[in-house]
Amino acid sequence: ILLPIDETHEDVKTNIKNIIYSEVTPRHLEGNVRLVCASEDALNNILDMDMELTTREEFAEFISGAKLPYGALPVAHRYGGHQYGLWLGQLGDGRAHILGEYVNRHNERWQVQLKGSGLTPYSRVYDGRVVLRSAVREMVASEACYFLGIPTTRTGALVVSDDTVMRDVYYTGDLRREKAAVLLRLAPSWFRFGSLEILSENGEVPVLKQLVDFIIKEYFPEIQLSDENRFIRVFSEIAHRSLDLVAKWQGLGFTHGLLNTDNMSLLGLTMDYGPFGFVDSYDGGFIANSSDGEGRYALSKQPDVVVWNVGQLADAVKPLLSPSQQIHLSHILKTLDTYVKNKILETFLMKIGLREEKWGDDQLVEKLLDMMQQTGADFTATFRQLAELEPNEMVNDIKLKDKWSLKRLSMHVSWGCWLDQYRERLDKEADASSLGVFEDERRRRMLSVNPIYVPRNWMLHEAILDAECDDFVKLNFLLEVMKRPFDNQPEAEAKGFSAQPPHWAYALKISCST
Ligand code: AMP
Ligand code: MG
Ligand code: MG
Repeated sequence: ILLPIDETHEDVKTNIKNIIYSEVTPRHLEGNVRLVCASEDALNNILDMDMELTTREEFAEFISGAKLPYGALPVAHRYGGHQYGLWLGQLGDGRAHILGEYVNRHNERWQVQLKGSGLTPYSRVYDGRVVLRSAVREMVASEACYFLGIPTTRTGALVVSDDTVMRDVYYTGDLRREKAAVLLRLAPSWFRFGSLEILSENGEVPVLKQLVDFIIKEYFPEIQLSDENRFIRVFSEIAHRSLDLVAKWQGLGFTHGLLNTDNMSLLGLTMDYGPFGFVDSYDGGFIANSSDGEGRYALSKQPDVVVWNVGQLADAVKPLLSPSQQIHLSHILKTLDTYVKNKILETFLMKIGLREEKWGDDQLVEKLLDMMQQTGADFTATFRQLAELEPNEMVNDIKLKDKWSLKRLSMHVSWGCWLDQYRERLDKEADASSLGVFEDERRRRMLSVNPIYVPRNWMLHEAILDAECDDFVKLNFLLEVMKRPFDNQPEAEAKGFSAQPPHWAYALKISCST
């Protein structure tokens, strides 16, 4: 690829221009590097690797960056971003090395990246490291999202060492030493909105054009390089993928927590998991990131934030557009709010077993969410338990023994009324087919989109406490359960993974200290 490479990376040079990557060797962890966990699916299906390889000592050395795969050319990617709405210029990538691309047996191309692998020219005042706590969260979340059907970057493996770095614990200002880790991350591409924004903001337009053409050629082959409208087309595609993604997040109660433009993938993938959270007790105002005091990235604000971020991407590609194309761009932007609203409605209709929108369906969904908000019903469990209801159970005085979240919801004064409306609406849907067959089919559909298990913060918290003491059993168990989030698993039931979260879970705080 014809991209400039900076060869002199002795100094930290955040004001260098016309650079996309800098060649820089990982600075591997020193003390007692060991494997914490690995994703069999990612290693096998993406890297064609047998899990047995992970038992070799050498494996951890590759993940830590001490050994490089044959043919690797480690580079750090220069990008910028809007954080909490403000343009901050260059800010990444201060702690990740892309080692190269791997073409696997399915003929897919994957960029192999280490995160936490040491200083780069873009580290600013930071240390180039990732702490174990944060690496565990990213590993579990990315693999869980994959199995939940959310487009995402992947994680192949995670190592830890006895090397330590300082981090502030929460927003208390307390500092503590934490063990440094390295993640093996995998994605078709690691480009972000901020990869283009930095070039645009700094007036590096020829390089911007070169990069967008490269991205079209590599990742959007359906768009012709000879097409004079290619920049509009690729923008529109990225915009819609990003909105499709946020609709999936909303449907699973996933709150990213740090939706800065540098954390927005150009391929519409969930990336850079930090202070994320799957909401427990439903609250649209749920803030996953305790550093986000104003709740800019609260659960119900995500669709608007993604639209805002897409607006920043539009600004970034504007210098490549003719005046008439710029008008076209502004027309596209005006359609995005409606597009994402419809996508989200579609997602929630599927969750309650409806395939096609009929008049009043938006109200049905809205009322359900209102009742959940007002009763504090659990997001994941409510939808799952609704899916598990037998038709004859859909009456106001249903026995809700084991359906703890519906039981809570049923305390709402409007519950009985809502249930009547819901049953009527289902009957309408069933008109065409035989009722019994329809009911089975509906429940099957609902069970396939409403998971039993999501990686809740309390589960991660317990796994992390143990992992910090070198006990990786809970972590590996959690990873194992999340491989089949829609299937009932007795071992997970025994651990309370589908029960009401423990009381302390609701008080957990996750900051963006990583
Ligand atoms: P985040 O807000 O976590 O998405 O991080 C924004 C950028 O800051 C990332 O692209 C990183 O490159 C950089 N960064 C975060 N933490 C560190 C660190 N400990 N050392 C170097 N760079 C960092
Ligand atoms: Mg980031
Ligand atoms: Mg702007």
